[in-house]
Amino acid sequence: MPITTKILIAMCLGLLAGSAINAFGHDNGAIREYLVDGLFHVVGASFINALKMLVVPLVSFSLICGVCGIGDIAALGRIGIKAFGLYLLTTCLAIALALLLAVSVGPGRDFERSGEVAEFSAPEAPGLAEVLIGIVPSNPVNAFAEGNMLQIIFFVILFAIAMMMTGEIGLQLLRTAEQLNEVMMKLVMLVMEFAPIGVFCLIAKSFSEQGIGLIVPMFGYFSVVIASLFLHTWVTLCLLLWLMTRMNPWEFMKKMRPVHIFAFSTASSNATIPVNLRVVEHDLGVPNSTAAFTIPLGATINMDGTAIMQGVATVFIANVYGIELGLMQYLTVIGMSILASIGTAGVPGVGLIMLAMVFNQVGLPVEGIALILGVDRLLDMLRTVVNVTGDAVVTCIVAKGECRR
Ligand code: ASP
Repeated sequence: MPITTKILIAMCLGLLAGSAINAFGHDNGAIREYLVDGLFHVVGASFINALKMLVVPLVSFSLICGVCGIGDIAALGRIGIKAFGLYLLTTCLAIALALLLAVSVGPGRDFERSGEVAEFSAPEAPGLAEVLIGIVPSNPVNAFAEGNMLQIIFFVILFAIAMMMTGEIGLQLLRTAEQLNEVMMKLVMLVMEFAPIGVFCLIAKSFSEQGIGLIVPMFGYFSVVIASLFLHTWVTLCLLLWLMTRMNPWEFMKKMRPVHIFAFSTASSNATIPVNLRVVEHDLGVPNSTAAFTIPLGATINMDGTAIMQGVATVFIANVYGIELGLMQYLTVIGMSILASIGTAGVPGVGLIMLAMVFNQVGLPVEGIALILGVDRLLDMLRTVVNVTGDAVVTCIVAKGECRR
């Protein structure tokens, strides 16, 4: 049986097991202690760690091979600018669509606020200057240790350029990097062998905690986010992909299935980098020289799904609190969401922290975020799927442009 089918079956079984526990065994202490917080948690979290373990070495070796494969700095700059531009464009389209849909449907207008709401404190929004300075690592070892993707990309690109300038030594290092990259890809396959068990535990744990009961009062917000995610993926992204590459969107989505399942079960674009890299290179035929750069970059700066959630959440909370938002505030939401998504990593739940920054900026009550906390895990899983799909679409478009040259 192909590994993708096994993972798909594991996901469905996890969904069933999790929902059954949520419906029938929610109050059973033993089930919670030994199964949900015990077995599912331990296996699921270890699996996520195993995926994260691959990210830094894989991105580093793969990016060295990619940069040396491109071979000239002008081409590297062109790929970088194209990818960055397309990432910005897709994020803008995503949030514009979300705002449009949310303003027309108006979720939260007749939402009943109960007395006590959970606490939610807002971190400070990073300024543009801070985001830019943060790209350059003062200590690369620190950047690698913390898995700071933008800093790692910056350092590795410079390192690879220096390698190209050092003749024979550089060539020897490149051969070593190519071999190490191959070993890392093998390691990705080894970890993927455990994916059915890991995915089962992750999904079962999430769904045993997220019952349908949580969604009912939030149905308006929930359905507008899902509709926007769906439209952005199947209309905006698929149309862009077809127009720019003539690739069949249906085939593309079929090949992306393992990436989608990994993104859904881990809720982390960063942890999905190894699988996304493998699929775009091996199944979608993108050369390593483009993918090694654009996939890790996208995992950090491109979050279409997260931007959609932020757009809908802004309108929802404004409606709940009866606050009128003007054009300037909507534009601020768009700008802030983009800036926040560049400055933050693709890890679970980061969207809510970014949302707090957006709310601070437009003057919406940050404690309103507590209202959507309950349903956020499920939406996080779904929006991460859209985030990684956006990364792969842009990668295919950039690669196609480079092929035509
Ligand atoms: N979990 C998302 C990601 O990793 C980010 C978020 O929306 O919270 O892409």
